[in-house]
Amino acid sequence: MSGRVIVVGSVNIDLVARVPHLPHPGETVTGGSYDRHHGGKGGNQAVAAARLRRPTLFIGALGDDTFEVEARRALASERVDVSMVASLPGQPTGVALILVDSTGENQIAVVPGANGAIEKGYVSECLARLGRLTGDVVVVCNEVPLHVVREALVCAHASGGTTILNPAPALGLDRSFLALADIITPNQNELLTLLHTEARRTGRRTDAGHEVAMRARQLIEDGSDGPGVRKAVIVTLGAAGVLVIERVGSGLGGSSTRPVVSAVAETRAAADFENAGPCDELEAGSRPETVVAAAESAVTDAPAIDGEMRIWEVAGDRVATVDSTGAGDAFVGALAAAIAEGRSLAEAVRRAVAAGALATTHDGAREGMPTALELEEFLATR
Ligand code: ADP
Repeated sequence: MSGRVIVVGSVNIDLVARVPHLPHPGETVTGGSYDRHHGGKGGNQAVAAARLRRPTLFIGALGDDTFEVEARRALASERVDVSMVASLPGQPTGVALILVDSTGENQIAVVPGANGAIEKGYVSECLARLGRLTGDVVVVCNEVPLHVVREALVCAHASGGTTILNPAPALGLDRSFLALADIITPNQNELLTLLHTEARRTGRRTDAGHEVAMRARQLIEDGSDGPGVRKAVIVTLGAAGVLVIERVGSGLGGSSTRPVVSAVAETRAAADFENAGPCDELEAGSRPETVVAAAESAVTDAPAIDGEMRIWEVAGDRVATVDSTGAGDAFVGALAAAIAEGRSLAEAVRRAVAAGALATTHDGAREGMPTALELEEFLATR
C-alpha cells in the first residue's frame, strides 16, 4: 500500500520584525530588521510530507493579492500539488505579523484572511474529485473554520482515507470532532484545552494532577456522550518525545516494514518522487482495514496493553536545538507521510519523532523541515 498525503489547512505569509523592544499600546518602535517567511500549519505540514518524497496535495485558500502568487509558488517549488488551492476574490492572503524583541520575547497577530473564508462545500468537492482515498492520509489542522475541519474529516473518512486531526489550535474541538478522526496529535497544551472542552460539555472534571496517559485516554475512550478518537491519540511532549495511546486492533499495523539502512540507499538512489496511483470512484461509507503486520522494533519501550488500549512512549532524539518552531508541523507531516507509505504506527511515530527533532536544528519553521535523505541518515545513526 502506498498513498498520498492530502493536507487541508492554512497557509500564511509570516512577516517578522526584529525590534529593539516590543511597543506599548500606541507606541511606534522604529529600527530593527525585517524578514518574510512562508508559514501556516497546513502549508508547513504539506512541505514536511513532500520533502519526505510522498506525493502531497494541499487543499486551502489564498487571497487575490501579491502574497497569493508568492505563497502558491513556495508550495509548488516544494513539489506540493497546489491545483486545489483556491484564490478567493476580495480576500487577503493569511498573514502572521510577528514582532520579536532583543530577548526573544514576541507579540503575534494572525489575520486568517482567505484561510477563514473557505466556503462550505469547497473541501468536500475537492475530496470528491480525488475519488477513492484508500491508502491516502488526510491531515486537517484547526487554523481554518470549524465547518471546514468537520467537512474534511467526514468526507475523507467516507472516501476511505486515514484521517489525522492536528488540534492546533485546540479551541472549539469537542468530542464530535474527535470521533471523526483516526488519529489526533495534540501537544500538552492542546491536550489540556481539549479536556477542558470535554469537561464543559459533560461536567466531568479533569484532575490536573493526572498523568498524561490518563488524560489522553479520556479522549479515545467511548463515553455516554459519544465515541472518542477512532484509533490513536499521540501526545507530543517537546524534547521528551511522545506518548501514544492506540486502540487494540486499530488496524494501524501498516503494510510494509523497511530496514533503515536499505532506506538510506534507496533514498539516495531515488531520482524522482513516486506518482500517486489512479483514483477510484467515491464510494461513501466503506473502509477496508489496512493489513496488520506490526513491526514494533522501533518502539523505545515495549507497549503496555491496558484493557482495550496499547500505551507506549518514544523518547525524543537528543539534538542541538536552535529553534523549536515548526517541530510539531514536521512531526505531523512525517507521521502522515510514513502512514501513507504503508508503515506501521510504531514505525511512523519513530520517524515523526526524528523529523520533529531534526526540524529544531534549523532556524525557522518551514525552512527546517528535513529532507528524506536527512531523515534516513539521521535514523541510521540512532
Ligand atoms: P508543537 O511544536 O506542536 O508544540 P512539540 O514541541 O511537542 O510540538 O514537538 C513535536 C515533536 O518534535 C516532539 O514530540 C518531539 O518528538 C520533537 N521535538 C520537539 N522539540 C524537540 C527538541 N527540543 N529536541 C528533540 N525533539 C524535539
